[in-house]
Amino acid sequence: MDMKKSKTTKCIVLVQIFVLLLSGCGLSAQPNEKKQYTKTYLDVFDTVTTIIGREESEEAFQKKAEQIHETLVTYHQLFDIYNDYEGIVNLKTVNEQAGKEPVVVDRKILDLLLLCKEEAELTEGAVNIALGSMLDIWHEARAEAIENPETAKLPDRNALENAMEHTDISQLLIDEEENTVFFADDKMKLNVGAIAKGYAVEKAIEGVTGNYLVSVGGNVRVTGPKTEEGDPWTVGVQDPDHPDTYRYKLCVTDGSVVTSGDYQRYFEVDGKRYHHIIDPKTLMPSAYYRSVTVVCKDSGRADAMSTALFNLPLEEGKVLAEKTGVQVLWIPISGDPVMTEGMEKLIAPFSSRFSGKTGR
Ligand code: AMP
Ligand code: MG
Repeated sequence: MDMKKSKTTKCIVLVQIFVLLLSGCGLSAQPNEKKQYTKTYLDVFDTVTTIIGREESEEAFQKKAEQIHETLVTYHQLFDIYNDYEGIVNLKTVNEQAGKEPVVVDRKILDLLLLCKEEAELTEGAVNIALGSMLDIWHEARAEAIENPETAKLPDRNALENAMEHTDISQLLIDEEENTVFFADDKMKLNVGAIAKGYAVEKAIEGVTGNYLVSVGGNVRVTGPKTEEGDPWTVGVQDPDHPDTYRYKLCVTDGSVVTSGDYQRYFEVDGKRYHHIIDPKTLMPSAYYRSVTVVCKDSGRADAMSTALFNLPLEEGKVLAEKTGVQVLWIPISGDPVMTEGMEKLIAPFSSRFSGKTGR
């Protein structure tokens, strides 16, 4: 994931993760003994984490929030490809060593990688964590452009093509008995930025019951309705042209909402924007949509699908959505938004009543 810390990149990330959390969707809240509490953390996945929950006491809420946060910290450290943590073999270690010899890893890493292999197969490579070597080149170009905008330049085409030779996920060998990871291609690198955050959120809410919402940089997972009376949570879909406002609101009671968007991380060369989701077919920022929002139960699946669908033409995307049972809102670069039938039932246009950055 993109966890290289620079002030500038961090600002961009912070700007794009506002989530609209409102009560409503037509049902009126009844008075009851439980109260809603909110806690924010800034130390995982290089973004803002917000936990909202209803409990009878603040202590009960703090305890659950801390438990969710602790799990997120564990996954953040294991899945980090940019930073080392004392005594921890993480994906940075794997990227550095697995080309030379099998690396023994925590089972949590193995489980993530096994799922990522499945998602790459299912999406025919539209989301592929083995793109790391190629994505590193884009990452570098973006980091340099953000530091020195006046000398911003695109990655070298040859370098991208050469790196693309080392992105075959079947060369990622996992031994579940020995708990090891090995790269049969020693130039291969993993980049789990498309899936890890959503996956970690899903793990963090395992066993959490009641009325909770966890948002890690806009990867939203809710564990039940917003209130005991069954009022749904409302999650805003950002307007890609004005990411500090919302274009739609979605009502969800149990499940995940994840968006991939061209406004989330990007740099500019000669006034043209180059965003962070790279189409493995063109080796360029994918050029179909401004954003793709996915709603389904599992947050790891939602995260994987939002990136994959962002890289697929609409007709192929519709087939994939049907096959995986996810609901989707596509906001194309040109033309009207398109959505699956199930999405139509969850969505409402953003109304001025809800304007502003966040609301609860
Ligand atoms: P997301 O915001 O979930 O769509 O994930 C985007 C992040 O995933 C990027 O910042 C890259 O680190 C990584 N990424 C970009 N393109 C791809 C791709 N085609 N397959 C897998 N990961 C990608
Ligand atoms: Mg994703």
